[in-house]
Amino acid sequence: MSIFGQVTVQNNKYKPTGNFHHISPNTPIRNADDNWRLMGVTKPRAMTYIHAYGGEAIFFASLPQGKLLASRCEHSDCASKNTMYMPFRIHCPDCLTKNKIVDITSIAKTTATIHTFMVCERSGAFNVLKKPIKFINIEFSGVATILMSYLSIGEPEFGLRVVPIFKSVNPTYTILDLSWVVKGTPAQELPEGFTYAK
Ligand SMILES: [Zn+2]
Repeated sequence: MSIFGQVTVQNNKYKPTGNFHHISPNTPIRNADDNWRLMGVTKPRAMTYIHAYGGEAIFFASLPQGKLLASRCEHSDCASKNTMYMPFRIHCPDCLTKNKIVDITSIAKTTATIHTFMVCERSGAFNVLKKPIKFINIEFSGVATILMSYLSIGEPEFGLRVVPIFKSVNPTYTILDLSWVVKGTPAQELPEGFTYAK
């Protein structure tokens, strides 16, 4: 049995296997200024959270295949018909019908630019990105929204042309499988496990 909790879906039901919580020993908290008097105990708690992607699952499944999926409202009576959304929106925010999924990999390769950016020297808990983290907001031609992601190679600038890269080797199936580099970056300089779209 795995030491980590794992989940599969069968007959439309979650099937968890493995351990979803681990017993770790508690330790006493003592007061060094008062003859090490007992003040309390620590209570380590490690748990596995089951995060369902729902209708967005196809977006995350496509990243390791080098595909960037957006969505578009095609409802004939919608005032926002043909509006394209990246990040991926399952439903149209105006008419609430289900959006059509659109592959915008080639639009991203040929039109993505940095709208604005933020360089963070420090991070929160559980960060796995290399610091400083270069967060970038990306504009695409014909897309109504702006995508938040991170630049792996290059220095961010307003209006800079960037190209998507995808973690095709050992993907995490999270948004970290998508990153960006300055246009013209040689393929051999990409971070480990990342490739350009085919
Ligand atoms: Zn709509």
